[in-house]
Amino acid sequence: MEYRREFLKKSLWSALALWAAPLGLAAATRTDHVVKKGDTLSGIAKKYGTSVPALKATNGLKSDTIQVGEKLQLPPSAATGIHIVSKGETLSVIAGRYGTSVKALKRDNGLKSDLIRVGQKLQVPGGGSGGASGLLAPVIAATHRIRVDATRWRYIVCHHSAIEAGNAEVYGRAHKRRGMEHGLAYHFVIGNGKDSGDGEIEIGPRWEQQLRGGHVRNSRVNDTGIGICLVGNLENHRPTQRQRQAMNELLDFLRDGHTRRGVSVTVHKRVDKNHTVCPGRYFPYGDLDRFA
Ligand SMILES: [Zn+2]
Repeated sequence: MEYRREFLKKSLWSALALWAAPLGLAAATRTDHVVKKGDTLSGIAKKYGTSVPALKATNGLKSDTIQVGEKLQLPPSAATGIHIVSKGETLSVIAGRYGTSVKALKRDNGLKSDLIRVGQKLQVPGGGSGGASGLLAPVIAATHRIRVDATRWRYIVCHHSAIEAGNAEVYGRAHKRRGMEHGLAYHFVIGNGKDSGDGEIEIGPRWEQQLRGGHVRNSRVNDTGIGICLVGNLENHRPTQRQRQAMNELLDFLRDGHTRRGVSVTVHKRVDKNHTVCPGRYFPYGDLDRFA
């Protein structure tokens, strides 16, 4: 039932995308994913929880061949927003899957208790499949594959890259050249649409392997801090709207069950005082107030 519903929705969106593409309505405006070396359509579809046909339809692709650097848009089916309860599922399992909380699920569905039944339809806060935007989907998928010891993470530290170009792979190579054995110093990199998607959250090996960061001088914070880097020089301009949205959804996801209670959500310059301007004067500092 659930599968069929999903399939119908995807088909419908695909049809819409096919219809809209020649009119120039679907494409052009947004980049969700920039093709990197080794990417395949099926790999990308799996990463974002969508299908190859839907990806092809959305992007007007005639074959499965994609080029490095090619900009792709994700099908809107990433945000259907309804979850149908399966056998064995609890509210906390469902909340975890969509990167939301039990409290938000109960509130949005008017539930008085934690009791749910098989077949029940739930509205997923923020539209489902990875937060309001779908931008969290790859993070949720990657985090499902690993075991996170929430108690070890005491800090989340935000950075900017201070340059306009680059992505997780590019920064990872640079950090390796600088002698970091685990490469990319951050756990997550949020793209600006240049060398990765606008708002795309790239997951580094340090998150996948739950390794300490290498993003600040303070070694206690490196040991226990998750590093998030926004691509761009935020001394000169604000992050894109989707970058900011991705960052906020990622922060909420990490705060809700993946970090120690009372985790300190901060920025680089507050950790390494008098050493850096990172993450720049146009970083949205007010977004962190809710964690204070
Ligand atoms: Zn920094």
